[in-house]
Amino acid sequence: MTIALYDTRTRRKRDFEPANAKEVTMYLCGPTVYSYAHIGNFRPAVVFDLLFRVLRQQYGSEHVVYARNITDVDDKINAAAAEQNVDISVITDKFTKIYREDSAALGILPPSLEPTATGHIEQMIALISRLLATGHAYQAEGHVLFSVKSFDGYGKLSGRDLKDMLAGARVEIAGYKQDPADFVLWKPSGTNEPSWDSPFGPGRPGWHTECSAMIEHNLGTTIDIHAGGQDLIFPHHENEIAQSMCAHDNVPLARFWLHNGFLDLGSEKMSKSLGNVKLVHDLLKQWPGEVLRFALLSAHYRSPLEWTAELLQRTQTVLNRYYGTLRRLADVAADEQTAPSGLIAALHDDLNTPQAMAKLSTLFKQANQATELADKQRLKGQILASGQLLGLLSHDPEGWFKQDGSADTLSAREIDELVAARLSARKNKDWAEADRLRQQLNELKIIVEDGPDGSIWRRG
Ligand code: AMP
Ligand code: ZN
Repeated sequence: MTIALYDTRTRRKRDFEPANAKEVTMYLCGPTVYSYAHIGNFRPAVVFDLLFRVLRQQYGSEHVVYARNITDVDDKINAAAAEQNVDISVITDKFTKIYREDSAALGILPPSLEPTATGHIEQMIALISRLLATGHAYQAEGHVLFSVKSFDGYGKLSGRDLKDMLAGARVEIAGYKQDPADFVLWKPSGTNEPSWDSPFGPGRPGWHTECSAMIEHNLGTTIDIHAGGQDLIFPHHENEIAQSMCAHDNVPLARFWLHNGFLDLGSEKMSKSLGNVKLVHDLLKQWPGEVLRFALLSAHYRSPLEWTAELLQRTQTVLNRYYGTLRRLADVAADEQTAPSGLIAALHDDLNTPQAMAKLSTLFKQANQATELADKQRLKGQILASGQLLGLLSHDPEGWFKQDGSADTLSAREIDELVAARLSARKNKDWAEADRLRQQLNELKIIVEDGPDGSIWRRG
């Protein structure tokens, strides 16, 4: 089954064929690790994790190389380190660790490679030296700048000409630039800022240079897929293309460019500067990671996604229903685990997650209605395989209902005790006590189902 992906550069959906099916290469611009990431930052991480899973299923997991970098040298990191009076590594180590933990909670697979900017300074210097030697870059006041006029293809990705691009974007105006659109490849560092020696003087790399060097070193000169958020098209990706193509005899940097749409809170774009962010670290105290992942995948990745409490509540209810079905099917041995072709086809169609989720819902409906054992076995196998492909339904159903979603509710053990106390009151025909305990559980939004083998409970 062919995979079709919408390519920003050619502005259409095209059939995806990797240059080498034995080594499919994908790169995602990763997080800048200076503070807690918000849920918007995780949209690219989750949707391109799904693409990683789809590619692994299609080409074999050993044949897909997915690199997601860590930007660990940046002005915002320097500012945080200066404010706390610590070395930048104290900040970047802490937030890299937190980013990995939050990613795992969202069901994001570790990428095949996680290159760091500070681990590739040598490669960045080599790349910049090549651009200087070929006349695509120039030195001015301790900086090295890329000369945008030296590259004909500048603006092709975003489809805008240079004048329009500059009008709409914040481009640093500096006297040492030959052209306002020229961008920094290397810049001098201030006192107490991290600095590396280089043939162009001590300093540090520009952000765009980091990705070009990490891609070249880890994945090669032309990769199959380059991904990121829509806000990165200009100037970040336009600049990555300019540097990489000029350093590599004009071979393309990526064969497909994929960009996710923005997540917003109501009508606003979520951003740290607007102060309306929802940190994943905090959301995870209230919601299971799977609820956040499911909600992020509920809209098509190129569409905007409105992040609301209602979306999360609705998603939690759906997942409770799904896990309820899986709990009822606990004793059914699943058949061979393959996702149904309709669900795979939806994902292969430019990651059509709304359609894939609708297929998943149909599978659950069928499983709930199935009476024959063979049907239950087949459907359970299909459900588990679909869950694996989507990165969902990874919990044991009992465990799902007992996880502590919120710090201010009772722990699973305390609820177990209340449920057991109610059962023993019933056994002793102490109906008043049994009713009181049920009332208490109701108030805690714990749903108790009495069955022949005792009572089971879940958070409502
Ligand atoms: P940063 O850590 O700020 O470099 O951002 C990491 C990624 O998150 C980039 O690919 C951004 O495009 C993406 N991003 C940031 N904010 C949002 C948002 N509100 N919705 C979707 N993607 C976002
Ligand atoms: Zn990048």
